[in-house]
Amino acid sequence: MKKTLQSYYATLIILLLSLPLTAMADSRVNFIDMDHDIYLEPWLSYQKIIGLQAEAESYDELDYLWWLLRKAQTENLIYFYDDFNRSVKLANSLVTANTPLKIQARLNLFQGLIYRRNGDYSLSQEAFIKALIQAKEAKLSRLYVYGKQELAYTKTLTEIFETSLADIQEAYVEAFALKDQFLIASINETYGAIYGYLNDYEKSIEYYQRALEAYQHLNYPAHVAEAVYGLASTYRYWKKYDLAIEYFEKYQQQTGYTPNSNLSFFSAYGIGMTLAEKGDCIDAIAIIDKALALKGVVDYNAELYKRKASCLIELGDLEKAEEAIDSAANIFVNIPELIGTTWHLEVMKISSELAYARGQHDIGYSLLKQYHLEFTDLLLKNSSDRLLKVRASMEVERQKVAQALAEKRLQVEILELEKRENNSTQHIYVNLFIACIVLIVLIVIIAQYRTNKKMHVLTIKDSLSGLFNRRYIFDYLHKAVSGGSPEKMQLSIVLIDIDDFKKINDKYGHPVGDDVIRCIAELGLKVFRQDDIFSRIGGEEFLCVLPRTNIVAAEKIAERFLTLINQSKMVKGHQDTVTVSIGIASLSPKCRDINQLYINADQALYQAKHLGKNQINVF
Ligand code: GH3
Ligand code: MG
Ligand code: MG
Repeated sequence: MKKTLQSYYATLIILLLSLPLTAMADSRVNFIDMDHDIYLEPWLSYQKIIGLQAEAESYDELDYLWWLLRKAQTENLIYFYDDFNRSVKLANSLVTANTPLKIQARLNLFQGLIYRRNGDYSLSQEAFIKALIQAKEAKLSRLYVYGKQELAYTKTLTEIFETSLADIQEAYVEAFALKDQFLIASINETYGAIYGYLNDYEKSIEYYQRALEAYQHLNYPAHVAEAVYGLASTYRYWKKYDLAIEYFEKYQQQTGYTPNSNLSFFSAYGIGMTLAEKGDCIDAIAIIDKALALKGVVDYNAELYKRKASCLIELGDLEKAEEAIDSAANIFVNIPELIGTTWHLEVMKISSELAYARGQHDIGYSLLKQYHLEFTDLLLKNSSDRLLKVRASMEVERQKVAQALAEKRLQVEILELEKRENNSTQHIYVNLFIACIVLIVLIVIIAQYRTNKKMHVLTIKDSLSGLFNRRYIFDYLHKAVSGGSPEKMQLSIVLIDIDDFKKINDKYGHPVGDDVIRCIAELGLKVFRQDDIFSRIGGEEFLCVLPRTNIVAAEKIAERFLTLINQSKMVKGHQDTVTVSIGIASLSPKCRDINQLYINADQALYQAKHLGKNQINVF
């Protein structure tokens, strides 16, 4: 009793203690399923997350990591890059081997973005590959596809177009299978970027447009802004400068969802570059300077400096042009991946233009010559590299097609096998069915035959003795006599009657009398021949027809029968002897009629009885 009470109180206390805990857990923001809310309202989400800072510090490590991760995600979307970098760094420092792969994969994705923004393309690829491996291991298909798409885009930036196209194609197939509109949109956006870099502007615009529509449908402002920016850039490369400027301005408006003024960098960059390329150098330089004053992206700055230098040369401000070229060159020095690319080589080309502008024709010439040499080398290298990559990717494609074909073939074979198995089981069923029908018919036929046979036996046999009955033997006699010529035919009949049978019945009862009848029948069957027809024609009266037997032979047979009866003990366990009287008659010229024959035999029998029984009398 005491124990029960104790455990009751313990349960109560545990319940009371756990109540506030559960309530607290419920009131907490669910950091795990936040993607949609963040994409929908990045700025509001950011504010909410920041509002939870104090509370977050009291979370357990896992919840804190989730909080940090979501903070980083919003910071990235509102272009708070420094904060984003810090959040990712802090989160990474908290990651242990036990941190869920869901978190680790996301962090690696963020890390990849950071490296990419810094121009560390190989590190960026490594981080994305890590994220992909983790996402795959944790079966996070959406994250996996998203990562693949980011990896493909990064490869594009280092001009590895072939494999990036293969990657993005795979990502697209997977996103399509997942029926995820957001993933499909981000893949279309990457397609837009890749085709832009490949100078296939029409396709690039087409894909960006698709991405833009999907993002607008989803109402994700940051993503809409990105797609608009993509469109603007492609129009710029396509030399559709007015459209480019229009879209860069649209981008500027679209970025109103975040108060971050740094965002103006990208629109300023785009407009500045476009104006410069268009030849509006004065306007271009003003905007480029504005862009450079903002916190931009390092390799974008290099582009700005190059464009600025070209414009300054055109405007005759050669000193400033040199400064601008030097700034661009310094940036490239710090991004090894970009050294030797067309972007880098352009520095040399602009330097030669500067030399020409200064009248230093020799320097200008040698710089231009070197530029062309390196540029041609690069083109050759790129084309041979590209050829190798194309071959490799074609081989990969071929293998994929072969594998797909093999899988299809296997499927067809399996289907055929199944069909064959189905057919053969169907065959077996049909055969079994037929066999059953045949068996049933056979059983019915046999049963019918047996009943018929039984019926037949019943109609011709006597049930007590098993001998032929009266009707059968007289039919037989009639047929035998009417079939052959009675003159030539030898036939005798033996008529047998048990002597004083009434007494046996009276003395021992009817069943014993029946036994005696059966016994006489058995003895008769022993004595008479195969062709003889032995029958019971009445109560204790028997008749045997002996075909092809004359009277002498018939008498001998009858004698044997009589002797056998005399030697037999008929009534079991008693001394009583059973005897029979026998009358014999044969067909003869005087007697050709069955009725007469029977009357003759009966008379002979009567005589035998009269003369003292237990004897044979021949008519
Ligand atoms: P007899 O020597 O003059 O032939 O004398 P009997 O007693 O044999 O002849 P009777 O005609 O007076 O009697 C025949 C008896 O046979 C009468 C009847 O009860 C008996 N009987 C007839 N059919 C059957 C039968 O199937 N089974 C038995 N147990 N008795 C039968
Ligand atoms: Mg009788
Ligand atoms: Mg009798």
